[in-house]
Amino acid sequence: MDTKQKITPIKDIGEFALIKRLLKKFSKKNPNTIKSWGDDAAIIDFKNKQTVISTDLLVEGIHFDRNYTPLKHLGYKSVIINLSDIYAMNAKPTQIVVSIAVSATYSVEALEELYEGIYLACEKYQVDLVGGDTSSSHSGMTISITAIGEVEKEEVVYRNGAKENDLICVSGDLGAAYMGLQVLLRENEVFKTNPNLQPKLEGYDYILERQLKPEARKDIVDLLKRAKIKPTAMIDISDGLSSEILHICEQSKVGCLIYEEKLPIAKETQDIGKEFNLAPSIPALNGGEDYELLFTVPLKYAEEIQRYPEISIVGHIVKKEKGNHLVSNDNKLFPLEAQGWQATNA
Ligand code: ADP
Ligand code: MG
Repeated sequence: MDTKQKITPIKDIGEFALIKRLLKKFSKKNPNTIKSWGDDAAIIDFKNKQTVISTDLLVEGIHFDRNYTPLKHLGYKSVIINLSDIYAMNAKPTQIVVSIAVSATYSVEALEELYEGIYLACEKYQVDLVGGDTSSSHSGMTISITAIGEVEKEEVVYRNGAKENDLICVSGDLGAAYMGLQVLLRENEVFKTNPNLQPKLEGYDYILERQLKPEARKDIVDLLKRAKIKPTAMIDISDGLSSEILHICEQSKVGCLIYEEKLPIAKETQDIGKEFNLAPSIPALNGGEDYELLFTVPLKYAEEIQRYPEISIVGHIVKKEKGNHLVSNDNKLFPLEAQGWQATNA
């Protein structure tokens, strides 16, 4: 998918020239970045704020498949998934470090594509790339990104603060990224049996974008701050709503009731669900990679939260003894299970 005219082998230009070439467009955005890349280590000054750190590893063949992942999208997404974790702490990401291991099948131009995606994410979310490491690899590519951020001590939101009667809220909509992946996998299979067939991707724009170019919900963190609503617990949805709400419930020592009819599911996701013979609540509950925020707020905010179209109330917190359940559209009670998302696209 990455069409390249020029192909420069990485070994032709050397590691430091490569890094310089990849990073030449990046500019400093945060005054707390005291020393960026170029020395033995970066320096950040957080003054009296708390420092928030999260890291993720993406391995070719496990987390992404080069056949249907454009490198620019891969770069963008690999930053986003890290920023999403920082926002889920109710914090502000300010820096990232990026480490890559690449085999000789990747050219300098291919890495420029990857870094173009990383650059776009840094611009959009105003974070500084302050360092990393580069290595060769025997097979494929591995990307490890660490995001660093800051937060006032009293603003931090953990997974463990949900209380009985709190409302369970979700940003955006769920299940689209999973359905996007199913379309990509289907077309990849068709391509493998007949490389002359063009992939049929028209009409699937929304779900493909959700899979290939997700966003982190900075806007929701900002909105809640403006509304002076501090969630009691929060987590980002990388493994499906079921698995994430169970994390909150376990750490908060509470139970939950989720209503199937309240799940936010885009029209596109519902339509594709029919094509794949899948009830749309299945990917919404158990699909992966939505990168929406799941959070709980005290009941007194019900009216205020309902004013925001980008937030849905999907249920409420109950006593631990009542367990964790889904109320289906036909009003039956099902125990919620952490089917989660297997990080194996292969
Ligand atoms: P060292 O020998 O100390 O590991 P390197 O030569 O690997 O230093 O890196 C030089 C500088 O470039 C460092 O500031 C490092 O953080 C940065 N850097 C190295 N690889 C990358 C990369 N893939 N992306 C961003 N910055 C990088
Ligand atoms: Mg190094």
